[in-house]
Amino acid sequence: APDITYRGRFAPSPTGPLHQGSLIAALASYLDARAADGAWLLRMEDIDPPREQPGAARAILASLEAHGLHWDENVLWQSARTEAYLAALDTLRGTGRLFACRCTRAQTDELGNCAGDCRTRQAQSDGDTALRVAVDTNYEANWPDRWQGPQHWPIGGALRDFVVRRKDGLFAYQLAVVVDDAAQGITHVVRGSDLLDSTPRQMWLQHLLGFDSPRYDHLPVLTNREGQKLSKQTHAPPLDDNQAPRNLRLALEHLGQPAPPDEYSDCAALLRFAVDHWRAQWVPATATLAPTPGGAAL
Ligand code: GLU
Repeated sequence: APDITYRGRFAPSPTGPLHQGSLIAALASYLDARAADGAWLLRMEDIDPPREQPGAARAILASLEAHGLHWDENVLWQSARTEAYLAALDTLRGTGRLFACRCTRAQTDELGNCAGDCRTRQAQSDGDTALRVAVDTNYEANWPDRWQGPQHWPIGGALRDFVVRRKDGLFAYQLAVVVDDAAQGITHVVRGSDLLDSTPRQMWLQHLLGFDSPRYDHLPVLTNREGQKLSKQTHAPPLDDNQAPRNLRLALEHLGQPAPPDEYSDCAALLRFAVDHWRAQWVPATATLAPTPGGAAL
């Protein structure tokens, strides 16, 4: 029976198919969970229709399956979670820290925060206003990050009042992720370091909503040789599901893990080896894309 003291997850956004960088995040969270005898859950973060690519959600699930990354329980689809997010907004309203804000990004950037009277405005979105959560200048988010080192984020300094419901009515990632990590009972979050500055915001929301914070560890983000994060924006090619064992070997290499013996040719065997030999402390702090075994750079 899985150890319920470890519940990890992978939470892709269906903005495009998986690429080698997202496979690394999926694999690391999977290995960390399985090596701890824990559960590994999947959540589809499909709350931003304008950014979605038709078919991407299904393609992501198929890709994970093709790589032998089987999840526990049912996929949680964020598009079906409106009521839970509305309930969380009500709770936030009750804390007195939710306010409606009409400021544009340019205005908030210039002022360092939104204009003074926004905070005192009634926390009702009238269809044309974003909802923001006020941060407390005395709050400091701290956590020991296995890969990025001890983190200290005095909120209210670098971190300002942030949006939880957008002007267009969509729920913000920060709100949805916190509500659903709590709903899925997530105890350990393993994700890319591109989300490092989201963590203090999420911890602040957990504090306001009365949720326990999971443990957070942020992986090195895979960059290309120009130092850019591998992403759809930098035209990372989609994973070739027909090359799944090769993709897994490459991902293990980027995670600093021992190479499975050559005779392990299928994903199940590779993953079993990788779980048995998982050494979180070997994951490097930074990772650059290596050429593929075939010689061509991805
Ligand atoms: N859906 C987010 C993304 O794909 C990740 C959420 C998370 O791991 O917290 O960037």
